[in-house]
Amino acid sequence: MSTPLSILQDVFGYEAFRGPQAGIIDHVTAGGDALVLMPTGGGKSLCYQIPAIARQQAGHGITVVVSPLIALMHDQVGALHEAGVEAAFLNSTLSGEEANAVEKRLLRGDITLLYAAPERVTTPRFLAQLDSLHERGRLSLFAIDEAHCVSQWGHDFRPEYRALTVLHERYPGVPRVALTATADALTREDIVERLQLQDAQQFVSSFDRPNIRYTIVEKKDPTLQLLRFIEREHEGEAGIVYCQSRKRVEDIAHTLQDAGISALPYHAGLDAAVRQQHQDRFLREDGIVMVATIAFGMGIDKPDVRFVAHLDMPKNIEGYYQETGRGGRDGLPADAWMSYGLQDVVNQRRMIDESPAGEEFKQVMRGKLDALLSLAEAVDCRRVRLLAYFGETYRRASSAAGPPQGGHDPLGGQREHEVSSVGATCGNCDNCISPPQVWDGTDAARKLLSTIYRVQQQSGISFGAGHIMDILRGKTTEKITQYGHGSLTTFGIGREFSEVQLRGVLRQLIATGALAVDAQAFNTLQLTPGSRAVLRGEVPVPLRESVSSPAPARGRRERGSLRAPAAVAAALDDAGQARFEALKAWRAEVARAHNLPAYVIFHDATLASIAALAPQTLADLQGVSGIGAKKLEAYGNEVLRVVLLKQ
Ligand code: ADP
Ligand code: ZN
Repeated sequence: MSTPLSILQDVFGYEAFRGPQAGIIDHVTAGGDALVLMPTGGGKSLCYQIPAIARQQAGHGITVVVSPLIALMHDQVGALHEAGVEAAFLNSTLSGEEANAVEKRLLRGDITLLYAAPERVTTPRFLAQLDSLHERGRLSLFAIDEAHCVSQWGHDFRPEYRALTVLHERYPGVPRVALTATADALTREDIVERLQLQDAQQFVSSFDRPNIRYTIVEKKDPTLQLLRFIEREHEGEAGIVYCQSRKRVEDIAHTLQDAGISALPYHAGLDAAVRQQHQDRFLREDGIVMVATIAFGMGIDKPDVRFVAHLDMPKNIEGYYQETGRGGRDGLPADAWMSYGLQDVVNQRRMIDESPAGEEFKQVMRGKLDALLSLAEAVDCRRVRLLAYFGETYRRASSAAGPPQGGHDPLGGQREHEVSSVGATCGNCDNCISPPQVWDGTDAARKLLSTIYRVQQQSGISFGAGHIMDILRGKTTEKITQYGHGSLTTFGIGREFSEVQLRGVLRQLIATGALAVDAQAFNTLQLTPGSRAVLRGEVPVPLRESVSSPAPARGRRERGSLRAPAAVAAALDDAGQARFEALKAWRAEVARAHNLPAYVIFHDATLASIAALAPQTLADLQGVSGIGAKKLEAYGNEVLRVVLLKQ
């Protein structure tokens, strides 16, 4: 019988396990329950696929993979077929006839992994089939993917996930492994409780994604800023742009298209067929930019997404981290870029205030928003803050010189709880690469707050940001004359500050809760209990100096040789380059014929290795990372033929 390592090598064609994979796989293969927390791209799939194969070989029968990713099941199962693993899926996209055929195979025990949506798993019909397998000792393992969907604190709550406790109650002896790429402490506890995983072993990986560069810019003309960012740093590359609303998705997609970028819209308001078609094109074609609401992206395993841009601020750090994590799964450099402004703060606060949820829930949501706001306002390392949010202390994994290199193992870093990360720098976020000029906004903040206080005292009503800033800067507007605000003692005491500076101060005061915006009353500014400490000068207000024009494309040259897609092929000579191109063209044909994304056949990195190796025989091909036994058998000779033609 095969060991997990021999399955990794023979079936998947990989040399060695990454980070904690080996421990998880041993534990689950031996029949233990597990909760696996690993960042996107860390390699979670193998953590249940290899135990499924090993346990099937040992006579335990089938593994049921519960996943909400209906639109991706076809490709996931296709990838397993390519590797020679018997797999199938059951979901609403199948016709009755097709579903019957899968059920027959299931009951015959011809399947190693069955992917199914949670609403399907918990139907009486499906449970009856599981009963039948269970009675015969042929129900091997449950893998619950995207396990954070069970939690209302997560950002993808799926009520159907709650019903999955039936698996544990009905089949107490069948091991379960739950996996997720996102979970702060609260969500993690919730997963354990909801899925009754109290006795499961927890495997928590480092969440660091060293190849992702985090950048948060001040929102000025966001569309133009985005365009410049794509044109300067990611021309022709695949990326995702997240926007808040459907309308904005449509607008931005059009703008990008007009600028000659292959952009497609994706949101829940589009016809299901159109959504699927856009998703397929994103996965199957090169260099598509998907402009989307958060409806897009869960489970997208395209390895070469080179950037994830947020045009509007998400709701919390989990969402931000999950979404940005979709970049750079291949380990090569990727950008996480966000534009952020006062309006984002106001909008997000208002959405919480106006939601029909209970007060306790709103409090939690406000806390999560605050954490994201302080990330956006930060003048120090973004990565340190991100990891701290997930309970991890950042410690630079590799050498102190230069940014992390492409291909870095995301699981290599250690969690170091004792070492303080104060003042740590990652070298691969905007604040580390070009530390922002910081100015002390304490004085400006005090002047702003006391103006708001005095105006409220004098007029008995509150005003918006524009009017308050006008008073402080000593402008004589109609409104100031009308309300007699020219006689306030604070009139004109902030002449030295620019409007941009004051907006920055306001944004930070609102972000930190020292000031509130009343959305019900024309966005007027209100003092809060938190205002007092700032007024007294007890809380410093460090502010980043606003840059009036977008910074030049910094950092481009320094990692130039690492940039994908050229990156993997960069080391090739001319002949190697020709082989690489020929192999890609061949792969595109195969992918089309199999109706699968190209990377499911072979990753770019695998093709680049073949091109460099210029193999003459099947034996030469064996051992190239990404070529398992089945792929060698199915494609080996064709690959040799393509290579020989370019000799
Ligand atoms: P996750 O589900 O955690 O986001 P995946 O399971 O999709 O990540 O894995 C990310 C990529 O890493 C995939 O392309 C996968 O084939 C590859 N991978 C996973 N484990 C290994 C390994 N041990 N060696 C080489 N590549 C691996
Ligand atoms: Zn940093």
